[in-house]
Amino acid sequence: MDRENYSYSNFRHMVYIRKVKIMADKRDYYEVLGVPKTANDAELKSAYRKSAKKYHPDTNPGDAASEAKFKEASEAYAVLSDAQKRQQYDQLGHAAFEQGGGAGAGGFDFDMGNMGDIFGDIFGDLFGGGGSRGRRGGGNGPIQGANLRTSIRITFEESVTGVDKEIELTLKDDCAKCHGTGAKPGTDPQTCPKCGGKGQVMYTQQSLFGVVRNVATCPDCNGTGKIIKEKCPDCYGSGYISSKKKIQVSVPAGIDSGQSIRIREKGEPGKNGGPRGDLLVEVTVSRHPIFQRQDYNVFSTVPISFPIAVLGGEIKVKTVDGDVLYEVKPGTQTDTKVRLKGKGIPSLRSKTVRGDHYITLVVQVPEKLTEGQKEALRTYDKSMIGEVHPETPVTPEPPETKKKKGIFK
Ligand SMILES: [Zn+2]
Ligand SMILES: [Zn+2]
Repeated sequence: MDRENYSYSNFRHMVYIRKVKIMADKRDYYEVLGVPKTANDAELKSAYRKSAKKYHPDTNPGDAASEAKFKEASEAYAVLSDAQKRQQYDQLGHAAFEQGGGAGAGGFDFDMGNMGDIFGDIFGDLFGGGGSRGRRGGGNGPIQGANLRTSIRITFEESVTGVDKEIELTLKDDCAKCHGTGAKPGTDPQTCPKCGGKGQVMYTQQSLFGVVRNVATCPDCNGTGKIIKEKCPDCYGSGYISSKKKIQVSVPAGIDSGQSIRIREKGEPGKNGGPRGDLLVEVTVSRHPIFQRQDYNVFSTVPISFPIAVLGGEIKVKTVDGDVLYEVKPGTQTDTKVRLKGKGIPSLRSKTVRGDHYITLVVQVPEKLTEGQKEALRTYDKSMIGEVHPETPVTPEPPETKKKKGIFK
């Protein structure tokens, strides 16, 4: 089944869900669906299906109260049917998904793809399973185009500063010759005789509970309600022309590998005057030879020489801002960790908020020395006799033996 057929419907739910402000009087999700807190997945699904059927805008055209109920139930189901979100909700309530709220980073993101799964799953069996293009006003209402997905790779530096990229993509557009109808100019698409232009056909089925009426997408017109007798020569009846398009992608500073950028209305064209779908660009950040990222913090290892470790001194440390000077304290041990405050990655939410840069100072042991340098080291070593000398530890005699010796002396 073509999941993209659901996109218009999904889009409306999405818009609503994104616009929802967490209000004090927001109802408990379990209460909305009328299930106990212990409800399992099947119970949730069944409860949601029941309210969806009852309040679906197609069943109650123009009824704002029903639509609000439908959206409320859809939102509740979207959260409770996702194990991770449900757990967050159980712990924190609605606050779990408030922007910048208690749940903090990685809070709550209604992903269009996931919503597609949810609604596809539910409506797949709710509306007869034959695709749903005809569901909206018999295929004559506006339908948003499907979303497109693509990916780009950027450097570590670009993820820190943000970057504008241009990508090339094959996009469909309404055919200019037939204006998207798919019919040869001068001819018109005919109303489908099978479904009378509704895009849906009804059929009855005998079941245990009596005769059941079912609705399915019209097989003749594939839900469009129209039949094209003479096809447009430019688009061969599809109504679309594909062409390569250059699209500007503005990658924000602070983006991490795996995150996506949504570019509105650069997806597939809509139908019947509906808006285009969106383009989702997944970003992959290349590995950096020195820096590693975790959340908004940067980690790196900085080699220091033995004399600097012993005597202290100024060193240059590479950061995402370029080289910075750092004063090594005398007597610094290897593996000493230092925080360079505010030298990390800028937050996606606010450019003025930045993570930190943690460096690990590692003392380097020289491998190639001149005879003179070796001699100097030997002199140094001799001067250390009587000092703490961890390189050649003198194995102390076990204290017990000493004692015995003392007794039998
Ligand atoms: Zn055409
Ligand atoms: Zn038809």
